[in-house]
Amino acid sequence: MSNSQTLTIPSTLLPTDGRFGSGPSRVRPEQMAALDRAGRTVMGTSHRQPAVKNLVGRIRRGLTDLFDAPDGYEVVLGNGGATAFWDTAVSSLIRTRSQHVTIGEFSQKFAEAAAAAPHLQDPSVISSAPGTLALPTGEADVDAYAYAHNETSTGVMSPIIRPHSATDDQLVLVDATSGAGGLSVDIEQTDVYYFSPQKSFAADGGLWFALCSPAAISRAEEIAATDRWIPQFLSFTTALSNSRKDQTLNTPATATLLLMAEQVDWMNKNGGLDFTTARTAETSGLLHQWVEGRDELTLFVTEPSARSQVVTTIDLDSAIDAAEVTRIARANGIIDIEPYRKLGRNQLRIATFPAVDPSDVQALIASLDWVLDQLS
Ligand SMILES: *Cc1c(COP(=O)(O)O)cnc(C)c1O
Repeated sequence: MSNSQTLTIPSTLLPTDGRFGSGPSRVRPEQMAALDRAGRTVMGTSHRQPAVKNLVGRIRRGLTDLFDAPDGYEVVLGNGGATAFWDTAVSSLIRTRSQHVTIGEFSQKFAEAAAAAPHLQDPSVISSAPGTLALPTGEADVDAYAYAHNETSTGVMSPIIRPHSATDDQLVLVDATSGAGGLSVDIEQTDVYYFSPQKSFAADGGLWFALCSPAAISRAEEIAATDRWIPQFLSFTTALSNSRKDQTLNTPATATLLLMAEQVDWMNKNGGLDFTTARTAETSGLLHQWVEGRDELTLFVTEPSARSQVVTTIDLDSAIDAAEVTRIARANGIIDIEPYRKLGRNQLRIATFPAVDPSDVQALIASLDWVLDQLS
């Protein structure tokens, strides 16, 4: 190929929707249509009045159903996304010391937030190399375990199990930002299962949602009663009391709530997590099969059971420049398949969240096959 600048993927090969980003991720057209319909009745109206409160209530009920939340678990939400939730946990949920499993950028960030807190002891950190999995392990002097359901930067998913010797007084805090909705989970194994709406829920960013156990709620109440300074924005009990009224402390992004409600309802109507996880198993499976059939590609995650169903990371042979592949893809409308920036690998990263249709993944594969054939 003399001039790759001009490579045009045959339009018959292209996916209907070229967005394969790991977050923010594609929004289904039906969600956008719902947003349009709600243009005058919900958008631009008070979040203290029924229209928006009903929307929040619809999401809270929908998430309770989707995750089959055990008795006593509550859906809490707040502004600021998962990143704000880390600081909320540091302020409001960790008593003295947490254990963090860090297997990539996102799990690392929560560990850093805990390490920086003057009121906490240095956290216990269990790390493993990018692309590999590590699990939390029972430790007597921690009061919270923190790990991620899906490490979005590397494409590693984790089973969600309470550490073997965990006591009732040790909370399990799971960052499910990209895993929630696309991976199966038994919520009873967690005390806080938290996530943002812009990944598997195909909405927009800016909010956090959390399924919280009675133990997590009592911990927050216990800490709120001490003399620890907790900024109001990072107060879990404040978020809880607002959530119980289907509100948030300060103004939420109504459009995000609308998109989120549509996606949760779509998931539930189609069969809930059984539907979404079958779909992510199928779409990620298509990618895994494809990689195994091409010599110049390898799956970055070598342990098959740790390969994520929602984010697939694919290393390219050094003879092919992944940046060139993603540049050509982008010019043809296939976007956001670049690797996580700080990982610095010759890699593609492709998300298969529930909103991604299997036929689009097949078309993506056909398109990338075509590009790779042209470049070799
Ligand atoms: C995207 C992501 C975050 C950060 O989410 P924000 O909503 O941007 O704060 C945290 N954890 C994981 C696992 C993520 O994928």
